[in-house]
Amino acid sequence: MAGETRARRDFRHSCVGPSWYNCADDWEILRVTGVGKTERLYYTDSALREFDARVLEVREGSEGCRVYLDRTAFYPASGGQPSDCGTLDGLNVLEVVDEGAAVAHILERAPASTAVHGAISWQRRFDYMQQHTGQHILSAAFEAAAGLKTVSFHMGEEASSIDLDSDRVSQRQIEEAESLANQVVFEDRPVHILFRQADVAQQMDLRKPTAREGEVRLVQVENFDLSACGGTHVSRTGAIGLILVRRIERIRQRVRLEFLCGARCLRAARADFHILAEAGLLLSAAPAKVPELVRKQAADVREALKTNGDLTRRVAQYRARELWASQPQNEGRRIVRHIFEVAERLEARMVAQAAGALDSCVFLVGIKGKPSTLYFAQSAGGAADMGALVKKTCAAFNGKGGGARDFAQGGVMEETKLAEALEYAEGLLTGSRK
Ligand SMILES: [Zn+2]
Repeated sequence: MAGETRARRDFRHSCVGPSWYNCADDWEILRVTGVGKTERLYYTDSALREFDARVLEVREGSEGCRVYLDRTAFYPASGGQPSDCGTLDGLNVLEVVDEGAAVAHILERAPASTAVHGAISWQRRFDYMQQHTGQHILSAAFEAAAGLKTVSFHMGEEASSIDLDSDRVSQRQIEEAESLANQVVFEDRPVHILFRQADVAQQMDLRKPTAREGEVRLVQVENFDLSACGGTHVSRTGAIGLILVRRIERIRQRVRLEFLCGARCLRAARADFHILAEAGLLLSAAPAKVPELVRKQAADVREALKTNGDLTRRVAQYRARELWASQPQNEGRRIVRHIFEVAERLEARMVAQAAGALDSCVFLVGIKGKPSTLYFAQSAGGAADMGALVKKTCAAFNGKGGGARDFAQGGVMEETKLAEALEYAEGLLTGSRK
């Protein structure tokens, strides 16, 4: 297993691309503390929740005060990981900004004392430590199991994602990588933080090369992954709990995989279970039977709709013939005028369509509604022009319409004018109206 992993790593080294600058893990290096610089306590101790520090400087700005400390446990937003929240001397830290050498803490107002006590919101920090370490492992697992490299990474409040340098990934590859990642979690491997000069780091088995110079911070998941990274991580992989790939999306030439780690998996599993249990309840079936039943019910609905459509068409044809027979022939043609209720919409259209197959007739069909609808139709190849007729009628009643010679459709705005509109159209048709 170890030999196999090493061989795969060698392969990974040989296909390093130029786009790593976009990759979260590589964004940060250790910045040595000095005058005006902030010592980043989280670099060596990600589990530190509270600390004491000295205020070096306070700058007033439009967004509040920028407070600079000699040391901080607050992680500033960078490399895809959002910043920590928490308090400085009881004042809320709204945002933490990475300014290169210094870390700025944005507060609504300046602390009263130069000696301050900081406390970070541990729940949020730990959640991001789970997501971030989980990302290292998942990315390494995709390289090891499927030869797929991670080109960018995003951590969100709800879910995180990695973009793989491939336009496709199979379900099998996902499951293999996911299983490997979780195996590394279950083995509870230590996560080491190392500091090395960049030239030394480059000679090591880095998952991707670093463009940084000087001293570089490295995060090592024992015997599995080595990455240059300035983020916060758990100290043993077991603390990640679980890694789950949840969604696959193809974006341009890449595949984006949404994933969850730790407590987020628990919340997602609970939500999934509730959804499934509710679906089971609605179908009076065990959750495991839900897909089969939904598939069957969907097929039944399709079949029922088809039968319903066929029956409606047959009824419409009978009804059309009945309407046709009820009208006297006038100059060799029967003109049918009829208004349908809103609920008969589908049937009404079919009645109009049936006119095409009847001898020497014109159907002037109206359907109530807001707006109301008109269907004008005639026997196939009839002498009149339904398109022109509907257009002219609609124009006279503030509506709009048009269509072909034998079948046309329009809408009149007011339902109460429907009968008048059909009478108007008949007048145009018989020549009693110009
Ligand atoms: Zn990291």
